[in-house]
Amino acid sequence: MKVWIDGELADRDDARLCVFDHGLLYGDGVFEGIRVYEGKIFRCAEHVDRLFASARAIRLAVPMTKQAITDAMEQTVAANGVVDGYIRLVVTRGPGTLGLEPNKCANPVVFIIADQIALYPEEMYANGMAVIIARTRRIGASMIPPSTKSLNYLNNILAKVEAVDAGVAEAIMLNAEGDVAEATGDNVFIVRDGTVLTPPPESDILIGITRGVVMELCRRLEVPLAERRISVEQLYAADECFLTGTAAEVIAVTQVDDRMIGDGRPGPITTRLLGAFRELTRPGRP
Ligand code: PMP
Repeated sequence: MKVWIDGELADRDDARLCVFDHGLLYGDGVFEGIRVYEGKIFRCAEHVDRLFASARAIRLAVPMTKQAITDAMEQTVAANGVVDGYIRLVVTRGPGTLGLEPNKCANPVVFIIADQIALYPEEMYANGMAVIIARTRRIGASMIPPSTKSLNYLNNILAKVEAVDAGVAEAIMLNAEGDVAEATGDNVFIVRDGTVLTPPPESDILIGITRGVVMELCRRLEVPLAERRISVEQLYAADECFLTGTAAEVIAVTQVDDRMIGDGRPGPITTRLLGAFRELTRPGRP
């Protein structure tokens, strides 16, 4: 495997970060997870734009242009022969001193990994997944802007640990107000009386690119859609529920805590959207 780091494609074992990198010492940096479908980078410009927006939010100057980053990703995909896979694009604050001061890090580091990914077993896409609601709350807008995809994921990891402890694959996180925000690495949607609902940015979510794609699909398929605050009670009582994310794509949730969602099977609107998403990303394939 070749990893793109600081302008070069290095062998996997030679792609190394300095132990003084603030990305490592403090989670000080930003990243993107991006799909490659049929050799093409899916929603490339949107991901690159979000990376730059995240970097701006933490006052990190990305040391490359958007075009140069796009070219580097294409080069990495080609070098690894990735046709259907996943890109991890990371910008760290770079090496600095043993203090927080970001301005002492003169050289941010960019690296790009292109690899395969399979987040959940295929069986879960067919039958749906069980999730819990985590006790760990989502960080709020006054802490780290939730729309910033930073390297600081401990908040989500703690919620994921709760899921693992409970024997399920994912956890849904509430925001400080107790509204549904998102899953640890995915956005949440519910269906109620034929309308697809998803929390708005004000519910402290990361504004997912896949979330945006699914909203476009709803409009195209003329499925009623609204961004609404969602309470725990509304989640428990939903007719359908599903998660969206770059790695997860679209996946039905059929149980939340000890409550069955709908009849415990992926619902009709979820199934339709999952099909439309697959057709968009893998046209003509089963
Ligand atoms: N929320 C969080 C916290 C995430 O990390 C992600 C990305 N894995 C998402 C939502 C989904 O975003 P996207 O569709 O852009 O992958």
